Amino acid sequence: MSTPTQAPITFDLKPSATPLADAERQARLANPGFGRVFTDHMVTIRWTEGRGWHDAQLKPYAPLEIDPANMTLHYGQAIFEGLKAYRQPDGSVSTFRPTANAERLRASARRLAMPELPVETFVEAVELLVQADEAWVPNEPEQSLYLRPFMFATEIGLGVRPANEYLFMIIASPAGAYFSGGVKPVSVWLSEDYVRAAPGGTGAAKCAGNYAASLVAQAEAAAKGCDQVVWLDAAEHRWIEEMGGMNLYFVFGEGADAKVVTPELSGALLPGITRDSLLTLAADLGYATEERKISTDEWREGNATGTLTEVFACGTAAAITPVGAVKSKGGDWLVGDGTPGPITMELRNRLLSLQAGRTPDTHNWLHKIL
Ligand SMILES: *Cc1c(COP(=O)(O)O)cnc(C)c1O
Repeated sequence: MSTPTQAPITFDLKPSATPLADAERQARLANPGFGRVFTDHMVTIRWTEGRGWHDAQLKPYAPLEIDPANMTLHYGQAIFEGLKAYRQPDGSVSTFRPTANAERLRASARRLAMPELPVETFVEAVELLVQADEAWVPNEPEQSLYLRPFMFATEIGLGVRPANEYLFMIIASPAGAYFSGGVKPVSVWLSEDYVRAAPGGTGAAKCAGNYAASLVAQAEAAAKGCDQVVWLDAAEHRWIEEMGGMNLYFVFGEGADAKVVTPELSGALLPGITRDSLLTLAADLGYATEERKISTDEWREGNATGTLTEVFACGTAAAITPVGAVKSKGGDWLVGDGTPGPITMELRNRLLSLQAGRTPDTHNWLHKIL
């Protein structure tokens, strides 16, 4: 849905006249958790058919008024992104690969018949929000400012078709260290009754509906005593796809001879930016890497014989989470001895130190904002 008449998109800056007082902000930053506390500002950009993107604003964070016939509430044209701003050792602030998030938002938009925001507008919006809310970027190790870009239909009406009006927004939320008491492996339930994505479906799009459809499977995993659900392919319930809202990695062998393997992007998997970055970082560290299909049988047998040594999940929110135990209809087993593996931790440290600016950014992934 390109708009040939698109005028240049310029932002109207309306900083808050009443930002939160220093002491109050510090109190909220003390233990932010995840997604509970929001900053002083937000970005909004409107799109309407014929006019394209317009009315770009940075303004005080505030509720929206929603008409009961808002099309998103009924037909779910809603997509989102997730990225973080990291405090650097010199006090500056950088985000990680924001153009990759911008491109993925465009890909999600195409799948849901929504308009595509220009990459440079996405990145400018991220910059403006982080600049306005710089005081909200935590200074503590492993903390960050989580940015949530999202977009949804704003047209009012019940006719089923792509809406002719949308709102793109970014809000920001300080995020605490994911593992405050040391890295703790998760247990996973292999979901055979529910699937996340099917060929031709929306699995590769970061859309709200994928999450809505996942919640009952996550509840089933919890009922089985597991922390997370692992998704299998829709046709055979045999091939590993993802864990909850994170991609998965499998380490075969040990030491310098280890091979770091991740399920190939089948069209049903969400193409994670962390997943993509780790393929490069693992190669930088000297490991062989591979994207291919991995079956539940290979997982079980690999752990039984010891050829499969480590499993971990990855994504922006938690970076890298080790998988320690598996439960399924076909039986339960441990990954290794159930504790975080050395290559998992090596990759985790490499990724976190790169994002925090403690190791050289040889791939130019950090985008300095201020
Ligand atoms: C966002 C997401 C991921 C991880 O993507 P990153 O870009 O690494 O944060 C993985 N799987 C699903 C289903 C997701 O929604």
